[in-house]
Order: sequence, then C-alpha cells, then structure tokens
Amino acid sequence: MILPIYLYGTDELRSTAKEADLNRKEEITKLIADMDETMHHADGCGIAAPQVGEMLRILIVDGGDLADVYDYLKDFKRVMINPVLLEESEEEAVFSEGCLSLPDLHLEVRRPARIRVRYYNENFEEVEEEFDRFGCRMIQHEMDHLDGKVFVDRVPQIRRKLVQGRLSGIARGCVHTSYKVKFNSRKKH
Ligand SMILES: [Zn+2]
Repeated sequence: MILPIYLYGTDELRSTAKEADLNRKEEITKLIADMDETMHHADGCGIAAPQVGEMLRILIVDGGDLADVYDYLKDFKRVMINPVLLEESEEEAVFSEGCLSLPDLHLEVRRPARIRVRYYNENFEEVEEEFDRFGCRMIQHEMDHLDGKVFVDRVPQIRRKLVQGRLSGIARGCVHTSYKVKFNSRKKH
C-alpha cells in the first residue's frame, strides 16, 4: 500500500522513533512492504518509518536507481530494523543529499566517511556491517530520521539561511510532488 509521505514541519519528523518489537514480525513485514512501495512510487532511494508516520526504528535504502551515478550501488539494498551505530570514522565525506520529505531541495552535507552498524535485516537476522561511499551516506541520512533529524540540520547555518524560504514553503505544504504528502496545517511557520 502506498502511504503519504510526511513533510518537513510535521511533528513526526522531529520525534525520536521507538525500537520495533521483533516479536511483531507480521506487522513489521507489512510496514516494510508498504515503505518499499511508497519509496519506489516516489522515486526515492531511501525511506525511514517516521516519514510515513510510523514512529519505529526501521529504514530502507535502495541504490538501484543511482547505479548510473555510482555503479557500486547497482545491487545495494538494505532493510534495517533497530539499527545501532557502532563506529564512525574521523574522516569525513561531502555528498549532495535530498529527501522525500523535503522535495526539490538538494544540499551538500558533510558526514563521517565510514560507519559500522548493527541491525536486524528483513529476515530478522542480526547483522553487523561496515559501509562506505554513498551507501554509508544513505544509511546515515535515514538513521537521522529515526532520531528526529533531517539533513538540513547538518548544513552550516549560513547556508541553511539561504534556503529558509524554501523550508517554510515545504512546511506549509507548498510542494509539487508526484506522490501524496502530509503536512502540518495547524502549526505556524
Ligand atoms: Zn530523508
């Protein structure tokens, strides 16, 4: 089922998600299928459960559509349930990021170049894995969503100010997307 995507400005995107209860396999599997369908329908390469209003620590990254830019992403897909960051490198990397919750906004973001993560996969097996390059970047971006952060938070304030008008517009729901969105119509911006 395709779900609406929550936009920047909604409380869900600013809240910390809870660990998923691994005993509730059926519900988790259904949510993952819905998130996957929603992500592909919106031409996204990653999605976190809070972006569809589910406050659980679950994310998907899928690099398939980015393979023409980063060939090593051709078969790169991960489903992560309750991911935990174990290590991050001191070395940093800069990549341009975008987000389904912040349509038509792309900014360069600096983050650690490599990370080690422990998580449960879609088969509920525990995995420990290291990531680098753009795969690492996608996972870091989605893990931020589980803690109520979005990528613009990681951009220097002076550059964030330049896109403030655009951010306010998104929060008011002034977006043109091919997918259904949900925004906070009550809050002042
Ligand atoms: Zn995002």
